[in-house]
Amino acid sequence: MEEDYYNILGVEKDATIDQIKKAYRRTAIKYHPDRNPNNKEAEEKFKQAAEAYEVLSDPDKRARYDQFGKAGVDGGAGGFGGFDAGGMDLNDIIRNFAQNFGFGGGFGGFSSSFEDAGSAGSRKYQGSDLRVKAKLTLQEMAQGITKKYKVQKDVTCRECHGSGCEKDYKPETCITCKGRGYVLHTRQSFFGMTQVQEPCPTCHGEGTVIKKPCSHCHGEGIVKGEEIVEVKIPAGVVGGMIINAHGKGNAGKHNGIPGNIQVVIEEIPHSELIRDGQDLIYNLLLTIPQAVLGDSVEIPTIEGKAKINIKAGTQPGTTLRLRGKGLPAIKGYGYGTGDIIVNVSIYIPETLSKAEKKIFEDLKNSENIQSSQSIKEKIFKTFKNYFNT
Ligand SMILES: [Zn+2]
Ligand SMILES: [Zn+2]
Repeated sequence: MEEDYYNILGVEKDATIDQIKKAYRRTAIKYHPDRNPNNKEAEEKFKQAAEAYEVLSDPDKRARYDQFGKAGVDGGAGGFGGFDAGGMDLNDIIRNFAQNFGFGGGFGGFSSSFEDAGSAGSRKYQGSDLRVKAKLTLQEMAQGITKKYKVQKDVTCRECHGSGCEKDYKPETCITCKGRGYVLHTRQSFFGMTQVQEPCPTCHGEGTVIKKPCSHCHGEGIVKGEEIVEVKIPAGVVGGMIINAHGKGNAGKHNGIPGNIQVVIEEIPHSELIRDGQDLIYNLLLTIPQAVLGDSVEIPTIEGKAKINIKAGTQPGTTLRLRGKGLPAIKGYGYGTGDIIVNVSIYIPETLSKAEKKIFEDLKNSENIQSSQSIKEKIFKTFKNYFNT
């Protein structure tokens, strides 16, 4: 289970933006990589604090987080396989922190389009993310759907297969850094003298250089292209959610790491059912005879229609519940499936024919309809229930 953003920063749920800012500054300094060299645990905490701050400092994101948890702000970290938390890069965080909170650290000025390639120390380019919209009906949200998109994006160059080199050439090991991708510098930081790795100025951290660039992509390894992309949207999504399709965004330069496609979910409102979280509300209007005598009526559901029985003597304000006919929870968030809640109202005719008028007048004098004490009590009770629901 991921830790709560408020806990990470050590603030209350109703913390002001100022308190959140101060708490982030405090936490980030405590776990700053300059202060905790080669400490993976501190690095993780530093990243978590940045993620928490990013959400809680944005009123819109914070509101969605309060309502839906992580699912509301980024599709959630883990738990849905395939989506991620947006994968903030450590160097980005260090630079943002330095810019916004006034002190330096790490790879100042290092391009954010890089990501750690792992053990070798050299770095790979990261393709940027793309964003598309998915307008979904209630049925599509309930069942999940695979959407296809034709996207204009950076694709790997077919001439050089992404290497960026002209035919018969290969990227060569950089002489400046001997292929490591970084050079060592001792410098003054906020926390005193520290030795830091900086990206190699010759190869920009890649560890290799291109002597003869591919003429098709000018050595970039990527070109503008078009691709049909399939994105699987899980059952239970809500309007405003963002689903991350991992690795389907822009290709990275020189066979780097591809970006993601972020799919923003939009809900197409149903013509008759009103969404309330996982429940759906239907306002059913009965005629007087239907309510008095009972009837079988059809009501709309996500899949089509369902028949329900109206008991004789159904009162206005009655609520009926069709269990499990609402919307499912997104995997790992919330429980079970919602209901359809039917609110019963009764239609009172505004004009009557002569014959109808006669029927109502006869009824008025009928003993059962007459306003006896027991009926008055029943009416009182019905209205009390009506206003309490
Ligand atoms: Zn090329
Ligand atoms: Zn180099």
